This record gives sequence, structure tokens and C-alpha cells, in this order.
Amino acid sequence: MPMVFDYERCDGCGDCAAVCPGDVIYLKHDAVRKRPYNRYVDECWHCGSCRQDCPQQAIKVTFPPDMLCT
Ligand code: SF4
Ligand code: SF4
Repeated sequence: MPMVFDYERCDGCGDCAAVCPGDVIYLKHDAVRKRPYNRYVDECWHCGSCRQDCPQQAIKVTFPPDMLCT
């Protein structure tokens, strides 16, 4: 899983879905609010845009080792 949502922090604003260049984040409604989820996990580019633009700091992106500077 390249990125995970912290639903304790997320307020369902949808900014992550709007900014994702791969269009892999969608929102689903539960009894309380909208919650984002990654519908196409294998198509995440690890660009980090969702994490960067989340106003609640509710997204953690795990980058593949070969994308990290060592
Ligand atoms: S941008 Fe952050 S707060 Fe907004 S829906 Fe996505 S994870 Fe939740
Ligand atoms: S890291 Fe980039 S491609 Fe992956 S879900 Fe976030 S915005 Fe979309």
C-alpha cells in the first residue's frame, strides 16, 4: 500500500482526490462523512501530491526504496 489515510485526522474535504494526477483516489460516504480511499493501488505514482496538499496532514505515503536518495 503506497499511501494510507489517517481517518482520525481526515475531514473528508476531497482535496487529495482532486489533486491526484493518477485519478486513483475516490471518496465514499459512510454514515458520518466522506472518506477517501485508493481505488487503484497499483496505479499510484508515489508523486506525493496528495500528502503535500492534505490540509489535515492525514496522508502517509510510503515511497519505494529506489525513489529515495541514499
Ligand atoms: S485531503 Fe486530507 S483531509 Fe481532505 S479528504 Fe484527503 S485525506 Fe482527508
Ligand atoms: S501519491 Fe500521487 S499518484 Fe499516488 S495517490 Fe497520492 S497523488 Fe495520487
